[in-house]
Amino acid sequence: MYIGVDDTDSVKGMCTTYLATEIIKEFSELDLIGNPRLVRLNPNVPWKTRGNGAVSLRFGKGIGKPKIIGQIDGKDIKCYETGIGAKPTTEHFKRACQLVDKLAYFDDEKTNPGLILTHEKPSQKLYWQAVRYVVEKKPHLKTANPKFHKGWKNGRGLIGSISATAWRPRDSTYEIIAYREEKKWGKPRKIDTASVQKMDKSIKTTFNNYDYEEKHMAIMPSSPCPILFGIRGDIENDLHKVKDIVQSEKAARWIIFLTNQGSDDHIIPGSISSLEPFTSVKVWGTVTSSPKIIEGGHLIFQISNGKKTVDCTIYEPAKKFRWIGEKLLPGDVISVYGGVREEPFTINVEKLFVEKLASVSEKVANPMCNSCKKRMKSIGKNQGYRCAVCGKKASEEKAEFSVIKRKLKTGWYEPPVGSRRHLAKPLKRN
Ligand code: ATP
Repeated sequence: MYIGVDDTDSVKGMCTTYLATEIIKEFSELDLIGNPRLVRLNPNVPWKTRGNGAVSLRFGKGIGKPKIIGQIDGKDIKCYETGIGAKPTTEHFKRACQLVDKLAYFDDEKTNPGLILTHEKPSQKLYWQAVRYVVEKKPHLKTANPKFHKGWKNGRGLIGSISATAWRPRDSTYEIIAYREEKKWGKPRKIDTASVQKMDKSIKTTFNNYDYEEKHMAIMPSSPCPILFGIRGDIENDLHKVKDIVQSEKAARWIIFLTNQGSDDHIIPGSISSLEPFTSVKVWGTVTSSPKIIEGGHLIFQISNGKKTVDCTIYEPAKKFRWIGEKLLPGDVISVYGGVREEPFTINVEKLFVEKLASVSEKVANPMCNSCKKRMKSIGKNQGYRCAVCGKKASEEKAEFSVIKRKLKTGWYEPPVGSRRHLAKPLKRN
C-alpha cells in the first residue's frame, strides 16, 4: 500500500513531512517498506507554498532485516528494503483521511490537501511530468487511478501525492529531518552554529549545510513549522552520525527520507529558441550584452544562440553569485541552468557553466607617428588619430591594444548554499 500526501502545510505552520511521521505512527501495525520519500516537484509552479515538496510512504509485510531510519517519541522507526505491499482498505483510507483532517493547515487559502492510497505504483511518467511541467489534476488523477483518493478544498494536492508516489529514482539523496517538541513550535530555534560548521566539515557526504560568507545556517528553516533542522547527504549511514555532532534543543522525533533533492531532475535540456514559461532548462548560448545590475540588486545579461536572444537574471538573494555573473563579457560561451519566468520573460539562473572565454582587448596607447616618434592625438570619438607635429593621420585600429586578463575562469559556478533550489544538483555532487 502506497500512501501519498501533499499540500497540507502553510507558511504559517505545519509541514507535510511531519504528517508523514504521523502516518508512520498511525500505521504501526504494518511494516514500512523503503524509506519514506520526500519528493520535490516543479519549482516554478505559481501556487507552491515553499519548496513544492510532497511525500509518499509504502506499507506492507517487510522481507529481510529492517534498518533503523528514525525515532518518534523515543521509539525506533525501522523500514525494510523490500516487502509485499498491503492492499489498501476503506478502513486504512478512513484513518489516513482523519490524520489530514486533524493536521492540515486548512485556514490558509493556498492549502489544498490531497491524499491517495493505492496498491499499484502510478506510472513514472506522472512524476516526470510534474517535476518538469505544470500539470492538471484531472488527467493526472485519471491516469494514476488510485484505489482511494481525496482532495480537500480545490484538491490540488492530489497532483503532488500522485507524482511523489510515481517517483522511481534515477538519482537520489537522503535528508534527515529532526522535529521540535510541539510546545516549541513557532518559537526561536536553538542550534549551535559551531557544531553545524563542525558537522559540515567532518561529514563530507552532506551538502547545503552552512553558508560561511553569509553566516547562514541553511539546515534550519525560518518558518514556524515543526522542523528543527534538515540535513542532506548522499550516504544514509553518514546522516545517522550528524545528530551526534549537531548541538541543538531536543528533537522530539527524526526520520531519514529518501529524496530527489539535488538531482537536477527538473532540468530539461533545451534551446533558447523554444523556451516554455514555468519549466526549468539547460540552454547554451553566447553572451551578447555586458551584465548590468538593475533596481533591487538583480543582475541581468543576455545570451543568444545565433537565432534568438534571451535575458538571464541572477536575483539578489543569490548574493555573491551575482558578482561572478558580472564578470561575464560579450562573446563568452556558457550553459545556463534555470527556471523560465513568464513575466518578465527571463531565465532565473540556478547555476552556469562557462565553456569558453572571449578574448577581449583594450586600448593601452594611441598610435605612434612613425616619422615624429610621438604618440598621435585623438581627433574625436571613432574618428581616428592625428600627429600634432606633422599632421599625419591614422585610423582607430592603429592604436595599441593588449588582451585583457580575464577575472573569470572556465568551469562551473553556483549560488551560495542558502539560495539554491532543492532540486538543483550542487556542484559538490558532480
Ligand atoms: P513544502 O512546503 O512542503 O516544501 P510547498 O508547500 O511549497 O511544499 P505545496 O504546499 O505542496 O508546496 O503546494 C504545491 C501545490 O502544487 C500542491 O497542491 C501540488 O499538488 C501542486 N503541484 C505540484 N507540482 C505541480 C505541477 N507540476 N503542476 C501543477 N501543480 C503542481
